[in-house]
Amino acid sequence: MKLGSTKRLVVKVGTNTLTDDAGVLDTNYLKDFTKQLAKLAHSGHEVVLVSSGAVRVGMARLGIKRVKSLRESQAAAAVGQGLLIDIYNHLFQTENITIAQILLVADDFRARSRYLNARNTLYTLFEKKVIPIINENDTISAEEIKFGDNDNLAAQVTGLVNAGTLFFLSDVDGLHERQGSKLGERIRLIDKITPEVLNLAGKSVSTHSRGGMITKIEGARIATEGGAHTYIANGREKNVLQRILDGEDIGTHFTPQTTWRDSRKRWIGMSSAINGSLIVDDGANSALMGRKKSLLAAGIVGAVGQFQAGDIVAVSNLKGEEIARGLVNYSAAEIEKLKGIHSRLFPQILGYQGNPEIIHRDNLFIFRHQKETNQDDE
Ligand code: GLU
Repeated sequence: MKLGSTKRLVVKVGTNTLTDDAGVLDTNYLKDFTKQLAKLAHSGHEVVLVSSGAVRVGMARLGIKRVKSLRESQAAAAVGQGLLIDIYNHLFQTENITIAQILLVADDFRARSRYLNARNTLYTLFEKKVIPIINENDTISAEEIKFGDNDNLAAQVTGLVNAGTLFFLSDVDGLHERQGSKLGERIRLIDKITPEVLNLAGKSVSTHSRGGMITKIEGARIATEGGAHTYIANGREKNVLQRILDGEDIGTHFTPQTTWRDSRKRWIGMSSAINGSLIVDDGANSALMGRKKSLLAAGIVGAVGQFQAGDIVAVSNLKGEEIARGLVNYSAAEIEKLKGIHSRLFPQILGYQGNPEIIHRDNLFIFRHQKETNQDDE
């Protein structure tokens, strides 16, 4: 089974876990929480934090008890997001970790170029050992472009970066059986999200956050279908992340649903909407076939077709065999100028920095390699 990257983790923390009853950020909790994340990052994990809390923290700062309109909540988010990042920055700095802020709306995942830009940025941040902190861009988010809740956002981000594990940290211990109106036993493992599982969520929606159990289960569905393990656990549990990673029985664990190929690569590989192709030399051919390498300009001898950055293209060797398909970072016209050239020289040619790869290996579906992987894995 091909899963998401085991070292890459997405951690979503909810408003009720971060703030006290008055909506003020709980500094003691945050100190402990950021320490946990920093430790994971220092031990080689690539960590993305999806943090809620902006609206609630902004409300508290502005003295708003109940938001009366969308624009009031958007204004609160604008105030609160700054406060949130400020404290994260301060706390992570003491742990020797640099953070980055990324604000997204659902529309960013639909527009291919924005989707690719977000992903490329995140990958670059991983390389630089930065912890990206993501939230919905509530200030501009209108009904038709929004994620709605951060559980959904975190699940989408898990797929975007192909993370191996998604944690939903909240103020509940996990999903429970129901006994009438009371909660029964905690459910340890869910290997399939059935209508019965969805029913267990009930209608509970927590105060101050948009999500509830149902949005977490829906998030778990998205993430597990993309190949990630997903956990719902109590964020206040001591050292919860490492303990779960060590296999301790905490929270509810949803197992990955994907088969041997991760869904994005499958989508790329199976796509019939090819917008052009790249011809590569023998060196690039064997680099791609033999190892999990990105496609660089140095190995490209030509571009065929009128594709744009973000399109899916075929990659063929000098014998005319199609060896791979991938999401390309540059247009055909740009590649004509970049082919055969070291990425160091890209800025001179393009007038901007650009990505060093023509196709990043995470966006590359290699036919023969995939066959081998398939045999190995099954
Ligand atoms: N983006 C919202 C905030 O930062 C949280 C959304 C949610 O609770 O799911 O306040």
